[in-house]
Amino acid sequence: MWRFLNGKEVLWVRVVKSLYGELVWGEDGFRCERRMRAGTGWWEKIVAAGKGTVGSWFVNNLCRRVGDGGNTRFWTQKWAGERPLSFRFPRLFNLCENKEALVSDMGRWENGKWEWELRWRRELFEREEESVNSLLLCISGCVIHAGETDGWTWKENKDGIYTTKSAYSCLQAERKDGTEANDSSKTAAMVWDAPALQKAKVTAWRALRKRLPTCDNLRRRNIVIDDVEMNCNACFSPVETVDHTLLHCPKASAVWDGIMRWIGLQSVRPQGLEAHFLLFSQLGNGKKCTKFLKSLWVCTIWILWRQRNASRFEASDFGISGTSF
Ligand SMILES: [Zn+2]
Repeated sequence: MWRFLNGKEVLWVRVVKSLYGELVWGEDGFRCERRMRAGTGWWEKIVAAGKGTVGSWFVNNLCRRVGDGGNTRFWTQKWAGERPLSFRFPRLFNLCENKEALVSDMGRWENGKWEWELRWRRELFEREEESVNSLLLCISGCVIHAGETDGWTWKENKDGIYTTKSAYSCLQAERKDGTEANDSSKTAAMVWDAPALQKAKVTAWRALRKRLPTCDNLRRRNIVIDDVEMNCNACFSPVETVDHTLLHCPKASAVWDGIMRWIGLQSVRPQGLEAHFLLFSQLGNGKKCTKFLKSLWVCTIWILWRQRNASRFEASDFGISGTSF
């Protein structure tokens, strides 16, 4: 597929092109220009690797190298930064005049210099103007080269050229991620049979899957947060993470210490929330005890998260001190 995309007109590429047409970039990744007949086998399977605008290992490692911009879609292809601009600036994408516009349609040459010229369906509000500025900043590093055609680069290799070896290592890494994600989903599922309020269990499950909207998670989802707002609200540690907020922050740590004193047990505190949950729920003997400890863990996480939200959004003090054991 790499060789096909990079336009080397060897015999097999010409044959495939005459049968199925060019590969075109659509809403859901690559597809063949001509509809394939059912069961056309091998080429269909290969093209399937290029499905999905984000998420597929092949597409994720592929990046558009812009020449004159005459063959690259401005909004829907990934050419400036890690994701297509339509993902990063959804509001502007909605307001743009032509969602299918090419990079070369979005500006013009003036005295030998490329000037961006973005067009919108209506006048923009002040906030939207700010987004336009961030968008311009984001594409300012990309140089348009007159007379050069657009192509592809492969991110896994420094020289931008695909090799089987780099594809293999990237697939191996993905497999490893997959198994880890599977283990963590099994652990998280263990909260469901704990006797506790449903909403407490949901919070604990989301915490174990690292899906609570802590600042680091929001940033990972490309929600822009100022550096000053990234820190923990309780102790001003620089980055608010799930593990920090619910386990290691001095405020949370004091709560866990109190709980350990209350149940009269001692234990180390692992780095990660998942390990902590597994260890904590196994502290006692017998099924009943495990159930009780699980539910205690779930409720504590819920209370800590509620306190975190109250201190962040309602400007109340991180008032755990009032909690009694
Ligand atoms: Zn903290």
